Amino acid sequence: MPLLMNPPTPERDPAADIALTDAERAARVQLAGCYRVFDLLGWTEMIFNHISLRVPGPGPESVFLINPFGLHYSEVSASKLVAVDLQGRPVRPTPYPINRAGFVTHAAIHRALPQAHCVMHTHTTSGCAVACLEAGLSHDSFYGAQLSGQVAYHDFEGVTVNLDEQARMVADIGAKRAVVLRNHGLLAWGHDLPNAFMTLWTMQRACDIQIAAAAAGPTRRLPAQVLAQCVAEAGPAEAGVCALVFAALLRQVDARDPGYRD
Ligand SMILES: [Zn+2]
Repeated sequence: MPLLMNPPTPERDPAADIALTDAERAARVQLAGCYRVFDLLGWTEMIFNHISLRVPGPGPESVFLINPFGLHYSEVSASKLVAVDLQGRPVRPTPYPINRAGFVTHAAIHRALPQAHCVMHTHTTSGCAVACLEAGLSHDSFYGAQLSGQVAYHDFEGVTVNLDEQARMVADIGAKRAVVLRNHGLLAWGHDLPNAFMTLWTMQRACDIQIAAAAAGPTRRLPAQVLAQCVAEAGPAEAGVCALVFAALLRQVDARDPGYRD
């Protein structure tokens, strides 16, 4: 199965293309900014991995934005993002292909979960390391505790290019927004981009600390009542907090290079 999904071969009637609305323009800028935030944080994997965002609109939200395959996250900008439908067909002309593995995973979640407006997936070293552990993610840290009972697991089946994996992946995810793709990496989704980011960031920090703690010595366990208390107090993060966090990181990106807005 090829990884490259070729763009715009106009099987679609151009007259049926979805018009570029102000809402989509805003979504493009926000998503492109998120790619640059990931680059700032070192959450990149050459030209691989994906962040996708539904295009807001009054009708059925069957279109999402995803990165053009072949570009590093530091090269992604608003106009270069590819808008595709749930069959992976670009809804307007684009010179860029998309990555099939990314499409299969992200389309499955956007299709199955109405609230999954944003989906993020990474291959960070500590995230992949935790995904390889039999016991999975530890909840015995400040960040891990906030995710207690919040994390789904999906077994590795290959490079997620087969459409028949979609149903199994979605069934494993259920309603949980933090997902360990076993032997593979991390995934999070949210009702908006800052919310998904906060979930993924919390999981990433938990993985970093888990790997560092395991290298240093035995880990002190947290009792169940403390985990429950932690989830009640801190997770999931409030929408306002998520927005503040993402805005602060975007300011860092803007200070370095606002070119993602183009
Ligand atoms: Zn992956």
